[in-house]
Amino acid sequence: EELSEEQPISPQAEAHVTLRRVEISQIALEYIRRGTRPSVSDSTWDRGPWSDDPDESGLQQVREENKRIIENYNSERIMRKKYYNMVEDMKGKIRVFCRIRPMNRVETSNGSKSVVDCLDEYSVTVETPRGLKEFQFDKVFGRGSSQEEVFRDTSRLIQSAIDGFNICIFAYGQTGSGKTFTMVGDKDLKNPGIIPRTFRKIFDLIQENTSKFDFKVSAYMLELYNDRLLDLFVSPAEAFNRKIEIKKDKKGLVFAQGAETMGAGTAEELFALFEQGCANRHIAATKMNLESSRSHLIIGIIIESTNLTNGSMSYGKLSLVDLAGSERAAKTGAKDDQLKEANSINKSLSALGDVIFALSSEQVYVPYRNNKLTQVMQDSLGGNAKTLMFVNISPSDCNSEETLTSLAYATRVKAITNNAQKNQESKEIAHLKEIITKLKSGQSMEEDA
Ligand code: ADP
Ligand code: MG
Repeated sequence: EELSEEQPISPQAEAHVTLRRVEISQIALEYIRRGTRPSVSDSTWDRGPWSDDPDESGLQQVREENKRIIENYNSERIMRKKYYNMVEDMKGKIRVFCRIRPMNRVETSNGSKSVVDCLDEYSVTVETPRGLKEFQFDKVFGRGSSQEEVFRDTSRLIQSAIDGFNICIFAYGQTGSGKTFTMVGDKDLKNPGIIPRTFRKIFDLIQENTSKFDFKVSAYMLELYNDRLLDLFVSPAEAFNRKIEIKKDKKGLVFAQGAETMGAGTAEELFALFEQGCANRHIAATKMNLESSRSHLIIGIIIESTNLTNGSMSYGKLSLVDLAGSERAAKTGAKDDQLKEANSINKSLSALGDVIFALSSEQVYVPYRNNKLTQVMQDSLGGNAKTLMFVNISPSDCNSEETLTSLAYATRVKAITNNAQKNQESKEIAHLKEIITKLKSGQSMEEDA
């Protein structure tokens, strides 16, 4: 009666099976370490004369194990990157997505060669005179990737903004590499990018939670042009007379003092505000495509939510940034006004580079104050934010130098750790604040009386 019905496998046999499994994954890992692939030839034995043999022949076992080594190898390579990325994410690492744009008509017609390839969803390679260079990112989108696909991996962050986190999504890369296409979309918005999709997603998520939360959405929109922050929600003439200052609140959250903040009740309203803002941007009549990259665009969306059950409040901020081109002024052949613009862009991007360098090499002093761009992005880089950077690259051989520079830059950004925390306060604190506000206004009324 002491014996159970099921005959347990002997501990020795069990240990043997486990050991063998470990050995198989060890062999697969060894292949990964050596950078070689296990041979697939043995798996063609699948339909061999032994396949119906009910007994475990030694040969069949070898065959099975070989197949498993290959399977392990493939899944392990992908899994490793996936888990690595997840751990990095949990540690607060800035996520970096790389997007390769397709070859354009000019490049195809002048016989340019594509030197960029996407090995798997995490790796990108560039052919250089010094050999093939490989870079790893949290995700790599090949030239065939759609706007939907790119947004699918981004939209998780929008939920976080609604949950009260500070989120930043920005695009970096040389002019013409696809930053605006990724962030905004194409000219007639047949292929809308992250910004318009985000507007829709915010209100979809709000709609889903409207029975539990009360939401308030507002936005500001700025342009950083020739070292000046300009409010895009007012006319250019008025914007020129306004002073916008970047300040930090007690929690280190950046806000733009003096900028107009407009409320929006629907995705359409938010989009209309965005279009109004775009119309106020510095875009010269000539060379539309180049000109749109003459300034940095910054959109801030603030989502306040009140939990209807317990009264707790949260405050999320979503910053969407379309940076100006990263290439050097010399290459664009700019002069006069354009040269001034290019110099100012170079100055801000090199300040951004200095901040990224200081953060990624864990220096004590981070030179945020050197430029308005780095001040605006202070809470998104090394601060209290979940940040996603897109590095946009061209596939063409004529751009390979800029591509390598951008990828090296993006690799540095990947090493930066942020510390994202919810901007939330309990019902009690919210209530206390309310009382204090009431008391203050009461006092002033008495004083007035
Ligand atoms: P940037 O903002 O980096 O200067 P753009 O986003 O304006 O570059 O892209 C330059 C041109 O290439 C535009 O005409 C744009 O529509 C096109 N383009 C960029 N990326 C893609 C893409 N992934 N698919 C199709 N067209 C693209
Ligand atoms: Mg652009």
